[in-house]
Amino acid sequence: MLYWDYAAAAPPYEEVVQTMEQIMKQHYANPSSLHRAGTEADRLIKRSREVCAAALGVNPQEILFTSGATESNNLAVKGAALQYQSRGRHIVTTEIEHPSVYESCLQLQNMGWEVTFVAPDSSGMVEPSRIAAAVRRDTVLVSVMHVNNEVGTVQPLLEIGRLVKAANHRTLFHVDGVQGYSGFEPRLGEWQADLYSLSPHKIRGPRGVGLLYVREGVTLFPLLTGGSQENGLRAGTENVPAVVASAKAVRMSGERREQFNNVMIPLRNRLLKFVAGIPELKVNSREDGAPHIVHFSYPGMKGEVLARKLEELGMVVSTRSACSSRLAEPSRILLSMGRDVSTALGGIRISLGDSHTEADIALLEQALLKAVQALKIVEGGMR
Ligand code: PLP
Repeated sequence: MLYWDYAAAAPPYEEVVQTMEQIMKQHYANPSSLHRAGTEADRLIKRSREVCAAALGVNPQEILFTSGATESNNLAVKGAALQYQSRGRHIVTTEIEHPSVYESCLQLQNMGWEVTFVAPDSSGMVEPSRIAAAVRRDTVLVSVMHVNNEVGTVQPLLEIGRLVKAANHRTLFHVDGVQGYSGFEPRLGEWQADLYSLSPHKIRGPRGVGLLYVREGVTLFPLLTGGSQENGLRAGTENVPAVVASAKAVRMSGERREQFNNVMIPLRNRLLKFVAGIPELKVNSREDGAPHIVHFSYPGMKGEVLARKLEELGMVVSTRSACSSRLAEPSRILLSMGRDVSTALGGIRISLGDSHTEADIALLEQALLKAVQALKIVEGGMR
């Protein structure tokens, strides 16, 4: 079996697994405890915060550990909306955000907030001027993802951040950086980002842990109350092994970014070209998209059917993002990119990782051809 679902969950680095095991065995004390073992666990968290901050070019006190990017995104969106409601109750986001942002916005909408969902163009690109045009005096937050998790489009964050702040300097700018970190250096200062979410398990770290950068001076309404952990913004005993292993993954992934791109981009380009050459398939990813995502549709064929066929042939792929892949509806992302329902139902996402080789791509290409041929025969027979 060849695994092509790195964007859903990437296999952890061996060092990450070892760190988790070591910390679980040796540092099980509660970091809030005042005895020596507790203080040592607390020191490990502090050190992890420093490592993550260095990788993001920010201050350690601006890094918050959560239970995953879903929580980070919920906290960024709802925490900002609730905290700053005296400034206004308007949010701007896009139609192609991950459900953890999108559904948070819908929830706020149901509670009386106004949300402007900006549509992308047909390639999944969000036009910065359209975001800026939506910003008003009462806009408390703009949330735009770095890289789309389904089709891999990279958003022009520099321009978006600049225009948002020019339109309203008090509007907070949140970036869901989950799918961008492995291939692109985060430039939080240049983007003028106030909030930035990251998910270690997408970058070969552990799952069940997340990061949220909260720029100094920004406060959030805590969604979890209880103890005073994480600056009082996120109560709950810290997951020390996962936090320490996350810092390892954030550092390693950052250090290997250039190598990741050098390996991935030629493989991605080769695969994109190959898919474009199969008449039954329609490519949904841009050539300048994320180095690890190739998305295409087989219009008229359900994505699950093609995915199952590929799995029979030894290739593990996804139909879209893992969170939405159990939904029977057409992809919200593809629909908002203007694809018809049959194309939006027939999506396949192949996401690459740094363990893949040219030989793996060749095997995937053969399997793709076989799968499409086999399904074409079945489809033809059913007519
Ligand atoms: N944001 C994006 C763009 C994602 O791709 C994902 C995961 O699929 C998330 C947020 C949620 O991350 P987590 O799995 O850590 O909750």
